[in-house]
Amino acid sequence: MRGLVIKNTGSWYLVRTDDGRDIECKIKGNFRLKGIRSTNPVAVGDNVKIILNQEGTAFISEIEDRKNYIIRRASNLSKQSHILAANLDQCMLIVTVNYPDTSTTFIDRFLASAEAYSVPVKIIFNKVDAYDEEELHYLDSLINLYTTIGYPCFKVSAKKGEGIDTIKEELKGRTTLFSGHSGVGKSTLIKAILPDIEIKTGEISTYHNKGMHTTTFSEMFPVPGNGYIIDTPGIKGFGTFDMEEEEIGHYFPEIFKTSADCRYGNCTHRHEPGCAVREAVEKHYISESRYASYLNMLEDKEEGKYRAAY
Ligand code: GDP
Ligand code: ZN
Repeated sequence: MRGLVIKNTGSWYLVRTDDGRDIECKIKGNFRLKGIRSTNPVAVGDNVKIILNQEGTAFISEIEDRKNYIIRRASNLSKQSHILAANLDQCMLIVTVNYPDTSTTFIDRFLASAEAYSVPVKIIFNKVDAYDEEELHYLDSLINLYTTIGYPCFKVSAKKGEGIDTIKEELKGRTTLFSGHSGVGKSTLIKAILPDIEIKTGEISTYHNKGMHTTTFSEMFPVPGNGYIIDTPGIKGFGTFDMEEEEIGHYFPEIFKTSADCRYGNCTHRHEPGCAVREAVEKHYISESRYASYLNMLEDKEEGKYRAAY
């Protein structure tokens, strides 16, 4: 029997079968993904084959090939990874310009990681009801920046229900991962989209933040019009650890495009003569904040540091 993994508690999985039943499942056999050691090899979004047993539960016997998946390394020292979600069509990054403030460094790291995983990102700016004139002005400059690079942006007030219908349209027919710092209103937004579901909020997110063993919890909620929202409580972003130094520039679309005109093919866009990227930054064709985020990621890589995307 075939089904879709819609919930991962860390110790068991909930699988929605093709004929519409929800069945509690455990793993059978020894799954290993190429190059990845995982304590938790099955993820929400996985299409799996299951074998029913007499108690009405089942074993997962096989994972179908994934279109993509995102992983998160448990810690800097550990090679263990968690697969957070599989077969994503897109990611909604929820940010706020205040209450709390989301830094462009965080946004850019997140976007670069998503590029590395080939997951398209749309940015939702929440709490637009709460900003003063100056904050709204800054919000518009961010929207202008990210739209120009190619990331669709949306203004929303989850609290007041503004802009929610547009988001619902964007979710139809797609599997969407919701991400964002805690406090940006992710739970409020998911509730505004799906009033009938029960989702983990506040307290539980904090609890999930505490240890690597709990961060595997994730859940998928069906949305009207044939799509799913994936929520991974306590996880704000995904890591950038598997990027090579020369790769980082590939994941900033405007830097990558411009780098075709750099004098040297292996230009890192720092000190090299004839660097088209630096020239574009000076002329304000490439934003200084994006360039700073790029340098920041490059620096981390040089220092061998692992920093998650937050
Ligand atoms: P999460 O940690 O991202 O899940 O954030 P929550 O959904 O728990 O929201 C955090 C706080 O922000 C709560 O006090 C919400 O009431 C508030 N909040 C969420 N969305 C909005 C919004 O659109 N406008 C305003 N003003 N506050 C909001
Ligand atoms: Zn260059």
